[in-house]
Amino acid sequence: MKTLVLGGAGYIGSVVTRLLLQEGHQVVVLDDCSTGHEDAVADGAELVREDIGRTGDVLARGGFDAVLHFAAKSLVGESVQQPALYWHTNVMGTRAVLDAVTEHRIPRLVFSSTAAVYGDPDEVPIPETAPTRPTNTYGATKLAVDMMIGNECTATGLAAVSLRYFNVAGAAWGAGERHSTESHLIPIALDAAAGRRERLSIFGDDWPTPDGTPIRDYVHVADLARAHVLALTAAAPGEHLICNLGNGSGYSVRQVIACIEQVTGRTVPVEVARRRSGDPARLVASGDRARERLGWTPERDLRGMVADAWAFAQDRAASAPATAPATAPATAPAT
Ligand code: UDP
Repeated sequence: MKTLVLGGAGYIGSVVTRLLLQEGHQVVVLDDCSTGHEDAVADGAELVREDIGRTGDVLARGGFDAVLHFAAKSLVGESVQQPALYWHTNVMGTRAVLDAVTEHRIPRLVFSSTAAVYGDPDEVPIPETAPTRPTNTYGATKLAVDMMIGNECTATGLAAVSLRYFNVAGAAWGAGERHSTESHLIPIALDAAAGRRERLSIFGDDWPTPDGTPIRDYVHVADLARAHVLALTAAAPGEHLICNLGNGSGYSVRQVIACIEQVTGRTVPVEVARRRSGDPARLVASGDRARERLGWTPERDLRGMVADAWAFAQDRAASAPATAPATAPATAPAT
């Protein structure tokens, strides 16, 4: 297929681009590189360095079979402080994308949605039919886009898939997490293990879980990438398919830290800090629909994610100039 990847210079988009190319697809990346990195774009993909508002200019070249849309603002804390930025970028930006997709009669769309649309769930594992009650602006904007896409499918015959990611981790094919504001547990803990950061703050150890720390469902970015390739052909014309993507098993913050210490052979210095507002105690995906509709089952476990993320971070540190250790940011991250 000839594909347009919006946000292909970012973490997940750059990994998916690599897999698309390996599978013989043609890829054009549209990314303004505001948070992504030009050198993260896979060799073999053309980069158009523009805002997603210019999607129509690229699609006007003709011949595209699908758009994969990863481009978004995704820091939970920032989204609460600057809602207008998130509604403009994520929702209005995607409106422009959908207008271009419709105008140029692109038959397929795959969209990066998030488990944050579910908020604090009544029960786990979470099926796609669970109530959607986002607890922050980021989740609200992703839910709004999911709804907008559903309406578009009904009206135009677009075949779309929204993939609701749980906690994505790991690295693959030379691409990995390189956020300038890093808020995710695994990269922060790895930096603390490597001595690039003083310590990891555990956001509360008094949660209603066995060891008192929150439980999350971690999924390897390479497995996630595979789900995107399968999603390209999963929806029928006019259908909006929504699938959760996780491993279906939960690990507490303390279990993740223990795994990191095992894999790296280093100690992760920690302090217990206050709970982060908006954090649910437990998020675990139901994998039933992704298995049935995408034919997707994740293959890599937490240990594999940690090992791959560690190798990626150590490689980058070895090739980068030394910087002073930083402390963990107080901003809440995206799922
Ligand atoms: N977490 C933590 N310290 C950090 C970052 C994260 O204790 O510096 C915890 C966070 O409270 C959550 C889990 O680690 O329970 C996963 O957080 P992350 O930010 O990676 O993803 P989220 O689940 O918030 O999308």
